[in-house]
Amino acid sequence: MVTESEITTVLDILKQSKGQTMLDKYQHLPPFQLLIMTLLSARSKDSTVIPIALKLFEKYPTAETMLQLKQTELASYIRGIGFHNTKSKHILQLCHQLITEFNSVVPNTLEQLTSLAGVGRKTANCILAYVFKIPAIAVDIHVHRITNNPRLSWINTKTESQSEQALMKIVPKKRWIEVNQLIVDHGQRICAPIKPKCHLCHVKDYCVYTNSPK
Ligand code: SF4
Repeated sequence: MVTESEITTVLDILKQSKGQTMLDKYQHLPPFQLLIMTLLSARSKDSTVIPIALKLFEKYPTAETMLQLKQTELASYIRGIGFHNTKSKHILQLCHQLITEFNSVVPNTLEQLTSLAGVGRKTANCILAYVFKIPAIAVDIHVHRITNNPRLSWINTKTESQSEQALMKIVPKKRWIEVNQLIVDHGQRICAPIKPKCHLCHVKDYCVYTNSPK
Protein backbone atom coordinates (compact mmCIF):
# COMPACT_ATOMS: atom_id res chain seq x y z
CA MET A 1 0.00 0.00 0.00
CA VAL A 2 1.41 3.37 -1.06
CA THR A 3 2.08 5.86 1.72
CA GLU A 4 1.10 9.53 1.78
CA SER A 5 4.77 10.38 2.00
CA GLU A 6 5.55 8.44 -1.23
CA ILE A 7 2.70 10.18 -3.09
CA THR A 8 3.98 13.55 -1.91
CA THR A 9 7.51 12.67 -3.00
CA VAL A 10 6.38 11.60 -6.48
CA LEU A 11 4.31 14.78 -6.91
CA ASP A 12 7.26 16.88 -5.74
CA ILE A 13 9.58 15.20 -8.27
CA LEU A 14 7.10 15.62 -11.13
CA LYS A 15 6.67 19.26 -10.16
CA GLN A 16 10.37 19.93 -10.71
CA SER A 17 10.24 18.91 -14.36
CA LYS A 18 6.69 19.99 -15.05
CA GLY A 19 5.53 21.27 -18.42
CA GLN A 20 2.13 22.87 -18.93
CA THR A 21 -1.17 21.15 -19.49
CA MET A 22 -3.64 22.78 -21.86
CA LEU A 23 -5.63 24.22 -18.97
CA ASP A 24 -2.47 25.54 -17.27
CA LYS A 25 -1.47 27.32 -20.44
CA TYR A 26 -4.85 28.89 -21.08
CA GLN A 27 -5.81 29.76 -17.50
CA HIS A 28 -6.08 33.41 -18.54
CA LEU A 29 -9.15 32.62 -20.67
CA PRO A 30 -12.61 33.35 -19.19
CA PRO A 31 -14.27 30.44 -17.31
CA PHE A 32 -16.82 29.95 -20.11
CA GLN A 33 -14.09 29.41 -22.70
CA LEU A 34 -12.14 27.06 -20.40
CA LEU A 35 -15.32 25.05 -19.89
CA ILE A 36 -15.91 24.75 -23.65
CA MET A 37 -12.25 23.93 -24.29
CA THR A 38 -12.36 21.17 -21.67
CA LEU A 39 -15.57 19.76 -23.10
CA LEU A 40 -14.05 19.77 -26.60
CA SER A 41 -10.92 18.01 -25.35
CA ALA A 42 -12.77 14.89 -24.18
CA ARG A 43 -11.29 11.93 -26.07
CA SER A 44 -9.46 14.35 -28.39
CA LYS A 45 -5.89 15.55 -28.61
CA ASP A 46 -5.08 18.94 -27.07
CA SER A 47 -3.02 19.83 -30.14
CA THR A 48 -6.15 19.44 -32.29
CA VAL A 49 -8.52 21.13 -29.87
CA ILE A 50 -6.52 24.27 -29.01
CA PRO A 51 -6.34 26.00 -32.42
CA ILE A 52 -9.96 25.17 -33.25
CA ALA A 53 -11.20 26.37 -29.86
CA LEU A 54 -9.21 29.61 -29.99
CA LYS A 55 -10.53 30.37 -33.46
CA LEU A 56 -14.08 29.66 -32.31
CA PHE A 57 -13.69 31.99 -29.30
CA GLU A 58 -12.48 34.85 -31.51
CA LYS A 59 -15.90 35.00 -33.10
CA TYR A 60 -18.08 33.44 -30.40
CA PRO A 61 -16.53 34.30 -27.01
CA THR A 62 -19.62 33.97 -24.81
CA ALA A 63 -22.64 31.72 -24.32
CA GLU A 64 -24.84 34.40 -25.89
CA THR A 65 -22.73 34.74 -29.04
CA MET A 66 -22.24 30.96 -29.34
CA LEU A 67 -26.03 30.58 -29.47
CA GLN A 68 -26.06 32.56 -32.73
CA LEU A 69 -24.78 29.35 -34.33
CA LYS A 70 -27.01 26.56 -35.51
CA GLN A 71 -25.93 23.11 -34.35
CA THR A 72 -24.82 22.14 -37.87
CA GLU A 73 -22.76 25.33 -38.14
CA LEU A 74 -21.05 24.71 -34.82
CA ALA A 75 -20.41 21.07 -35.76
CA SER A 76 -18.82 22.25 -38.98
CA TYR A 77 -16.69 24.78 -37.07
CA ILE A 78 -15.28 22.08 -34.79
CA ARG A 79 -15.24 19.33 -37.41
CA GLY A 80 -11.58 18.41 -36.84
CA ILE A 81 -12.37 17.38 -33.26
CA GLY A 82 -13.65 13.89 -32.45
CA PHE A 83 -17.38 13.52 -31.70
CA HIS A 84 -17.99 17.00 -33.12
CA ASN A 85 -21.70 16.36 -33.73
CA THR A 86 -22.41 15.31 -30.16
CA LYS A 87 -20.15 17.99 -28.72
CA SER A 88 -21.82 20.74 -30.76
CA LYS A 89 -25.24 19.64 -29.48
CA HIS A 90 -23.99 19.62 -25.90
CA ILE A 91 -22.31 23.02 -26.23
CA LEU A 92 -25.46 24.75 -27.47
CA GLN A 93 -27.57 23.10 -24.75
CA LEU A 94 -24.96 24.10 -22.18
CA CYS A 95 -24.97 27.73 -23.40
CA HIS A 96 -28.74 27.82 -23.08
CA GLN A 97 -28.57 26.35 -19.56
CA LEU A 98 -25.87 28.80 -18.49
CA ILE A 99 -27.97 31.76 -19.59
CA THR A 100 -31.33 30.56 -18.26
CA GLU A 101 -30.25 28.80 -15.07
CA PHE A 102 -26.97 30.45 -14.04
CA ASN A 103 -27.26 34.04 -15.26
CA SER A 104 -24.43 33.37 -17.76
CA VAL A 105 -21.97 32.61 -14.94
CA VAL A 106 -20.09 29.29 -14.89
CA PRO A 107 -21.10 27.63 -11.59
CA ASN A 108 -18.53 26.48 -9.04
CA THR A 109 -19.96 23.33 -7.54
CA LEU A 110 -19.65 19.76 -8.78
CA GLU A 111 -23.41 19.30 -8.66
CA GLN A 112 -24.18 22.41 -10.72
CA LEU A 113 -21.39 21.79 -13.21
CA THR A 114 -22.45 18.20 -13.84
CA SER A 115 -26.02 19.40 -14.44
CA LEU A 116 -24.76 21.09 -17.62
CA ALA A 117 -25.06 19.20 -20.93
CA GLY A 118 -21.96 17.18 -21.79
CA VAL A 119 -20.22 17.91 -18.49
CA GLY A 120 -19.14 14.79 -16.63
CA ARG A 121 -17.15 14.54 -13.40
CA LYS A 122 -13.79 14.87 -15.13
CA THR A 123 -14.70 18.12 -16.89
CA ALA A 124 -16.40 19.46 -13.76
CA ASN A 125 -13.39 18.63 -11.59
CA CYS A 126 -11.06 20.30 -14.11
CA ILE A 127 -13.12 23.50 -13.88
CA LEU A 128 -13.23 23.37 -10.08
CA ALA A 129 -9.47 22.85 -9.90
CA TYR A 130 -8.13 25.05 -12.70
CA VAL A 131 -10.69 27.86 -12.72
CA PHE A 132 -11.86 28.11 -9.12
CA LYS A 133 -8.84 26.54 -7.35
CA ILE A 134 -11.21 24.35 -5.37
CA PRO A 135 -9.60 21.01 -4.34
CA ALA A 136 -10.70 18.37 -6.85
CA ILE A 137 -9.05 15.44 -8.60
CA ALA A 138 -9.83 15.44 -12.31
CA VAL A 139 -9.25 11.89 -13.49
CA ASP A 140 -8.69 11.43 -17.21
CA ILE A 141 -7.10 8.52 -19.05
CA HIS A 142 -3.58 9.63 -18.06
CA VAL A 143 -4.36 9.97 -14.36
CA HIS A 144 -6.29 6.67 -14.38
CA ARG A 145 -3.51 4.78 -16.19
CA ILE A 146 -0.46 6.18 -14.42
CA THR A 147 -1.69 6.09 -10.83
CA ASN A 148 -2.95 2.54 -11.35
CA ASN A 149 -1.41 -0.89 -11.33
CA PRO A 150 0.99 -1.65 -13.00
CA ARG A 151 2.51 1.87 -13.18
CA LEU A 152 2.74 3.97 -10.02
CA SER A 153 0.28 1.51 -8.46
CA TRP A 154 -1.16 3.95 -5.94
CA ILE A 155 -4.54 2.41 -6.67
CA ASN A 156 -6.03 -0.68 -8.27
CA THR A 157 -9.24 0.31 -10.03
CA LYS A 158 -11.12 -0.45 -13.22
CA THR A 159 -12.80 2.87 -14.08
CA GLU A 160 -11.93 6.56 -13.98
CA SER A 161 -14.77 7.16 -11.56
CA GLN A 162 -13.41 4.49 -9.17
CA SER A 163 -9.95 6.05 -9.52
CA GLU A 164 -11.26 9.47 -8.50
CA GLN A 165 -12.81 8.03 -5.33
CA ALA A 166 -9.71 5.94 -4.53
CA LEU A 167 -7.31 8.85 -5.09
CA MET A 168 -9.35 11.18 -2.89
CA LYS A 169 -8.79 8.72 -0.03
CA ILE A 170 -5.01 8.56 -0.34
CA VAL A 171 -3.79 11.88 -1.82
CA PRO A 172 -3.53 14.71 0.73
CA LYS A 173 -6.31 17.22 -0.04
CA LYS A 174 -3.87 20.11 -0.42
CA ARG A 175 -2.32 18.24 -3.40
CA TRP A 176 -5.56 17.28 -5.19
CA ILE A 177 -5.39 20.08 -7.76
CA GLU A 178 -1.84 19.13 -8.73
CA VAL A 179 -2.68 15.50 -9.49
CA ASN A 180 -4.22 16.37 -12.85
CA GLN A 181 -1.67 19.08 -13.65
CA LEU A 182 1.36 16.88 -12.94
CA ILE A 183 0.19 13.46 -14.06
CA VAL A 184 -1.45 14.59 -17.32
CA ASP A 185 1.74 16.43 -18.22
CA HIS A 186 3.79 13.33 -17.34
CA GLY A 187 1.48 11.14 -19.43
CA GLN A 188 1.67 13.44 -22.44
CA ARG A 189 5.45 13.83 -22.41
CA ILE A 190 6.91 10.67 -20.84
CA CYS A 191 4.51 8.00 -19.62
CA ALA A 192 2.69 7.21 -22.85
CA PRO A 193 0.18 4.33 -22.91
CA ILE A 194 2.39 2.36 -25.31
CA LYS A 195 6.16 2.48 -25.04
CA PRO A 196 6.51 4.90 -22.13
CA LYS A 197 9.91 6.63 -22.06
CA CYS A 198 10.96 5.05 -18.76
CA HIS A 199 14.62 5.90 -19.40
CA LEU A 200 13.67 9.60 -19.12
CA CYS A 201 11.34 9.16 -16.15
CA HIS A 202 12.28 10.85 -12.88
CA VAL A 203 9.85 8.73 -10.85
CA LYS A 204 10.84 5.30 -12.14
CA ASP A 205 12.09 4.31 -8.69
CA TYR A 206 8.48 4.57 -7.52
CA CYS A 207 6.94 2.67 -10.45
CA VAL A 208 6.38 -1.08 -10.66
CA TYR A 209 6.10 -1.03 -14.47
CA THR A 210 9.86 -1.00 -15.04
CA ASN A 211 10.14 -4.25 -13.10
CA SER A 212 7.11 -6.00 -14.52
CA PRO A 213 7.09 -8.30 -17.57
CA LYS A 214 6.40 -6.34 -20.81
S1 SF4 B 1 8.81 4.34 -15.09
FE1 SF4 B 1 7.83 4.30 -17.11
S2 SF4 B 1 5.77 3.47 -16.75
FE2 SF4 B 1 6.60 4.11 -14.76
S3 SF4 B 1 5.83 6.20 -14.45
FE3 SF4 B 1 7.84 6.35 -15.41
S4 SF4 B 1 7.46 6.44 -17.63
FE4 SF4 B 1 5.60 5.69 -16.63
